[in-house]
Amino acid sequence: MKYYDKLIFELSKPGRRAYTLPASADPSASFSIPSGLLRAGAPALPEVSEVDVVRHYTNLSQMNFGVDTGFYPLGSCTMKYNPKINEEIANMPAFQGLHPLQDESTVQGALEVYYEMDRALSAITGMKHFTLNPCAGAHGELTGLMVMRSYHASRGDTARTKVIVPDSAHGTNPASAAVCGLSIVEVKSNANGLVDVEDLKPLLGPDIAGIMMTNPNTLGLFEKDIKEIAELVHACGGLLYYDGANMNPLLGVVRPGDMGFDIMHLNLHKTFSTPHGGGGPGSGPVGVAERLAEFLPTPKVVKGEDGSFHIVGDAPLSAGRVSAFMGNFGVILRAYAYILMLGKQNLAMAGKLATLGANYIKESLKDAYKLPIPSVCKHEFVFDGLIDDGSATGKPGATTLDVAKRLLDFGYHAPTIYFPLLFHQALMIEPTETESKETLDAFIDVMHVIAKEAAEDPDILHGAPHNAPISRPDETMAARKPVLKFGDEVS
Ligand SMILES: *Cc1c(COP(=O)(O)O)cnc(C)c1O
Repeated sequence: MKYYDKLIFELSKPGRRAYTLPASADPSASFSIPSGLLRAGAPALPEVSEVDVVRHYTNLSQMNFGVDTGFYPLGSCTMKYNPKINEEIANMPAFQGLHPLQDESTVQGALEVYYEMDRALSAITGMKHFTLNPCAGAHGELTGLMVMRSYHASRGDTARTKVIVPDSAHGTNPASAAVCGLSIVEVKSNANGLVDVEDLKPLLGPDIAGIMMTNPNTLGLFEKDIKEIAELVHACGGLLYYDGANMNPLLGVVRPGDMGFDIMHLNLHKTFSTPHGGGGPGSGPVGVAERLAEFLPTPKVVKGEDGSFHIVGDAPLSAGRVSAFMGNFGVILRAYAYILMLGKQNLAMAGKLATLGANYIKESLKDAYKLPIPSVCKHEFVFDGLIDDGSATGKPGATTLDVAKRLLDFGYHAPTIYFPLLFHQALMIEPTETESKETLDAFIDVMHVIAKEAAEDPDILHGAPHNAPISRPDETMAARKPVLKFGDEVS
């Protein structure tokens, strides 16, 4: 056992210290704390040196995988590299020290960031206004659907209780609709992986509040019929909601507003390069077309005639408040820095490179992995398992799960697997625009090595990963009953 496999409590030695405070010059000082608030005994903390603490946390951090440690081709997640300058800006003391209850005259710079970010996102997407208050993509979806509901309610149109969601949608779409009290109607994909317009037509009627779409959809395919779909949905009185969580491929190329969408969200923590994962702080701004702007949540930032910025708390038709104060300011700052850094010209490069990288991997690997829909993809695409899974050897064939586990041995994060549900062995790859050709080539080589191993001896894959801190936990129990602290039983 390596010494750092020990718990920090096991390293503890009585009296060992990382830091010692000088003896108090005034021993009576503690008397100012009411005795009822004082501890009876010392807390049960490990007693270790500074280097023990540093190694403890550094080793823990290396047991996980992050985009700062390696290539992370997780589809429908946009795990791109986040430039460190964004961190530096978000960590500037002038921003870090702000309190949300400060008088607005003292936070003009921060309010200007909100105002300018609304303008920038509106220009990028073709929307009229954005609220930056929602704290995640799913939170943005819920907020956008609340706007949709408020709009119909303001017209007395209360029969619209259903939302159409494609079968390829991200799982949060139907979940958000359900949380918003709407019922879900599924529209099927056609053989090309696009929304089937003929299947959509009979679903449209006076009970439809709107449709939620992702474009490019979750298969990475551009919904070519979007103009016709927009006309059909608008003609029945519904609205179009755009899930822009992964908008990379469209940046600077096409705008959802121009495609006919009325409401949308963006994930700043995907498309606009701020860190995400593990449920950390996110930001899911919601943008709307002009006629829906009055339904956006409050508070919002407006610019006065004299150029000063103000927080507006009430708006009579607003869908209401969706977060404490105004969302995750640190995430908004990082994304704002990223947008300014790239500027108008280079944002368009981001979209094109994301698309180029995905197509390059797809074309390079389709000799070894089944490609169910061979068309040009956008930022991501889906394979349906191995072409030769090795079952001809007489051993059980290697599955998508086995390929994903084996990739960990080579130092790559696995792609998204078994999603979307349209294919049995789905393996969904999104390289993002921040990876070089050399990184993509190295990944392609490893995917070929794994395919060869599978064909020759699938057992190599069945036992993988062979050198990760944990090999194959019970996936269901790991999700339902995670063992999060020492002493919890693995049952
Ligand atoms: C990630 C994602 C979401 C949800 O975003 P969260 O911030 O995780 O809530 C919604 N839709 C799509 C297409 C996504 O990729």
